[in-house]
Amino acid sequence: MENINTLQALLSTYVNQLTYVATEWYFIASSCIFAYLVYKNSTITIDSIINPDRAHINVFSRIINFFNFLFPKKYYFHRSTKTDLLYLLSFPLIAGIFFKPALVFGTAAFAYSATNMVLSTIFGDVIPSNPVSGSKLVLLSLGLTLSAALAMDFAFFIHHYLMHKIKFLWEFHKVHHSAETLTPLTDYRLHPIELFTIAHAKGLGLGFSQGVFNYAFGEPIEVTTLLGLNAVYCIYIFLAYPLRHSHVWVSYGQRLNHYFISPAQHQIHHSPAPKHWDKNFGGFFAIWDRMFGTLYVPKEKEDLTYGLSNGDTAQYQNFWNLYWLPFKTASRTKSGLITVIVLTLMFLIFSTLSMVRLFSMLF
Ligand SMILES: [Zn+2]
Ligand SMILES: [Zn+2]
Repeated sequence: MENINTLQALLSTYVNQLTYVATEWYFIASSCIFAYLVYKNSTITIDSIINPDRAHINVFSRIINFFNFLFPKKYYFHRSTKTDLLYLLSFPLIAGIFFKPALVFGTAAFAYSATNMVLSTIFGDVIPSNPVSGSKLVLLSLGLTLSAALAMDFAFFIHHYLMHKIKFLWEFHKVHHSAETLTPLTDYRLHPIELFTIAHAKGLGLGFSQGVFNYAFGEPIEVTTLLGLNAVYCIYIFLAYPLRHSHVWVSYGQRLNHYFISPAQHQIHHSPAPKHWDKNFGGFFAIWDRMFGTLYVPKEKEDLTYGLSNGDTAQYQNFWNLYWLPFKTASRTKSGLITVIVLTLMFLIFSTLSMVRLFSMLF
């Protein structure tokens, strides 16, 4: 029992939004509501022209139509979606649930201790303060919750930015961008090396923010959670996060899109059209893209296609190529080959250690 509690604490500390999104019914339900609103808006005009009474006389066919809208055949029987499914079942699912949280937790713990050590060396040991309680504790907890979400999101942004800008890393990130159709399965279309680097980036952000916050206030303060998640992430996920990898265009509107990355903005990130290249790297907050000049806010719904721009897309629809091709293309130069070897060794060592640690806690 204690082991299970420890595992749950580990997962909630990590705030693994992807695992939760895929498995929790309330996030799926909230996305369906958003999708229904989009569906209703896109069909209401046609309905009113063709048959204004249709809504009252044919509820069943409306449900069928909505289902077809939500799961269009040309999308879900597409070769890209089939590859996504095969790929998801081969490694990323187990990695998303166990391996990544374990890595993030380990890195966060390291970053937390290192931050405390550096701050103590520079500014002296933490002076124990009087125990905080009541409204002050609530405020501090909310402050930590927001700073942890911001720090992890900034780490995600920097990692994503580098994946695009450094050619060697782009070879691995191409796996995600080679999807020709976007479905929630595409969330998992990440090369193991990218799963590995993103886990460390997020862990560093989380550990650093908690280290600074706890040092500043002299006592451990816990992140405010909702449904086991960082509260900020939780609210964001309810805003149709799972639809960012889908055909459903959900935009938060001109004003809000400058602060939060809407599903429509992430769909634009996947578009190979030159005007969309290297735009909208952000995870949740749009402020980082504004700072780096990479924010793209659509004025209206745009027709998008997905995939790589240089004709490489087809070879990435092969299951084995998703694993193998990035190694091949990234090691074309001598420095690339050395980096691939180092990263792969680190990946193997860290994954083994994190899995051993996880299983020793479970059993
Ligand atoms: Zn990208
Ligand atoms: Zn994506």
